Amino acid sequence: MGKSSFFVRNRVFFIVCTLVFVFGRNHAIAAEKVSVVTSIFPLYDFTVQVGGDLVDVKLMLPPGVEAHGFSPTPKNMIAVKRADLFLYTSDVLEPWAGTIVTAVGVRDGKVVEVGKEIISAATDHADHNKQHRGLDPHIWLDPALAVEMVEVIGTALSEVDPGNSAVYKDNSVEFISKLQRFDKQTKQTLQNCRLRTIVSGGHFAFGAFAKRYGLIAVSPFQGFSPDAQPSPKAIAELVRIVRKTGSKVIFHEELIQPKVAKIIADETGGRLLLLHGVHNVSRKELERGENYLSLMQKNVDNLKQGLQCQ
Ligand SMILES: [Zn+2]
Repeated sequence: MGKSSFFVRNRVFFIVCTLVFVFGRNHAIAAEKVSVVTSIFPLYDFTVQVGGDLVDVKLMLPPGVEAHGFSPTPKNMIAVKRADLFLYTSDVLEPWAGTIVTAVGVRDGKVVEVGKEIISAATDHADHNKQHRGLDPHIWLDPALAVEMVEVIGTALSEVDPGNSAVYKDNSVEFISKLQRFDKQTKQTLQNCRLRTIVSGGHFAFGAFAKRYGLIAVSPFQGFSPDAQPSPKAIAELVRIVRKTGSKVIFHEELIQPKVAKIIADETGGRLLLLHGVHNVSRKELERGENYLSLMQKNVDNLKQGLQCQ
């Protein structure tokens, strides 16, 4: 065996060692991260904000998929079983979550229904809309309730990974201050508007948001989900409201063909603007790096136009 082959062999050995070191190390880092599966986009974004580099977060909803009609695949179930933590909003919004948990036998404490207390506390039982429609799961659209969700997520991460609880606490505080700043600015923007009624052709999702800013949200959909088509009578009622208020804008929701909103717009000569419910994002929005706050800011910009705010 010559000198050069010894050198080549050593070099190969060196490369193999380097690969083992690099990939082995990466693997070790990945394994140390807390793995979290979240059902909908706001939970995903909030967990990324609070968990930072310490967590590996997966969003169960594929890009562009409408949240209310979603049902999980066997692959989703395996992901939940393997995860350190599974976060969902509410049995109202994700009625399948309980089924997953039972099916995969996730142990207690690994699953958190983030909105459980928040939804019940936020429900005004004297409210006419609430009596009609039941509990409203769209809590993330009210920034003050989003703050509460972030707190619940921070606590859940600290319980799963107590060694890093100080980091989760710091990250929560930082993100909460951003949410509070957005809330304050939104209050100012929507303070002086000629119109106070958000006419949406989409499903009823902005009740909590409207209440927070002293506005009224109307939708022809009966419940809190876009599955059942609204009645012609309900659509006619919205047309009447648009004509009465002199609104020039009909809001439509994300990820769904705005058929109903278009009927109302055609009937009243209004134009369509997006009011993003932030249940999920499209592939394009994901690629653009949109997050909860960026989408909510666009909503406020569109509301400012639609409600003719100063
Ligand atoms: Zn919804």
